[in-house]
Amino acid sequence: MAQERDTDKLTESVKELAKRHGAALVGVAPVERFDPMPPLYDAAPKGHHPRQFLPEARSVISLAQPILNPVMDAPAILANREMEMIPPHVKYPYLEVLYNRVGHVVHDYMLEFIGQIVGQYLLSHGYQAMIFPTTGLHPHVEGLTDKQIWEGPPGALAREFSPFRYTFGPFSHRHAATRAGLGEFGYNNLVLTKQFGPRQRFNSIITDAELAPDPLITEPICLRDKCDLCLKACIMDCITMRDDPSVTDYRSVETDDRNRIFIDTPAKTDPTLCRRRREGIPDSPIRGDCVRVCPVPAKPRHFTDRLKDLWEREAPEIE
Ligand code: SF4
Ligand code: SF4
Repeated sequence: MAQERDTDKLTESVKELAKRHGAALVGVAPVERFDPMPPLYDAAPKGHHPRQFLPEARSVISLAQPILNPVMDAPAILANREMEMIPPHVKYPYLEVLYNRVGHVVHDYMLEFIGQIVGQYLLSHGYQAMIFPTTGLHPHVEGLTDKQIWEGPPGALAREFSPFRYTFGPFSHRHAATRAGLGEFGYNNLVLTKQFGPRQRFNSIITDAELAPDPLITEPICLRDKCDLCLKACIMDCITMRDDPSVTDYRSVETDDRNRIFIDTPAKTDPTLCRRRREGIPDSPIRGDCVRVCPVPAKPRHFTDRLKDLWEREAPEIE
């Protein structure tokens, strides 16, 4: 009883600390939830399970910070509008950098900062903690250009080895978020929460402290086949469902039950195709239409013309 009280007290103080420093959502998963679970029994790739970072791991803390709605939507809308002070040929990269800076990089730093603060707090209470970068890593690889690090050298084995080439993240914050009860995967291969839909970034902390777990979600969040808007919004067809027989990789499955809660992802995204969208289609939208179009938690109010047309054509009944 006393131990339970201590566990609850530590959990509460960790959550309060993370929220005070900028996390909007904080959940806890016991480490057992990272072992393969039905119905797909996905295993963490070798070298990426919580116990491989901390053999005594007992809990994983998942943190989320939302992307502000205008930060997500305004750069995409401005791409189709006149910007008096920005030369036309610079406008697209300018807006991509605008979104990247305040919709990505600032979250990356802040979530890493929160991880460090919580990790230090756990250490001061006698526990170990492993913290992570928020996003994938891009190591310098001798003899490869930046582009080759992303895409692999022509015909490279890396392509067969991993669709993420050399940029895979050390730990999947999205898989931690679903296991900590913050949300479920959507068809867009991102984690959707009830509060922010797909509009947030995540980070995680692995610790040997026993913390009170949060329950897994029990009701679907993604609208599934009655929506499909993220799949239709992608100009590069980067997102495929895992049971699509025409696209295979290590995440493929023969069949998937679309009624299950998506603790493991029902979809996969080709990161290289996503990155190449501007090469093939010069006036392609600013990155992120698979997020912008999502009607969870509510129909977006500030739409690009293209996404407005798509919505009216494909999903007029969704409010
Ligand atoms: S960011 Fe754009 S190109 Fe990339 S997966 Fe999403 S919709 Fe497709
Ligand atoms: S756009 Fe629709 S199908 Fe895609 S993730 Fe959002 S709710 Fe799910």
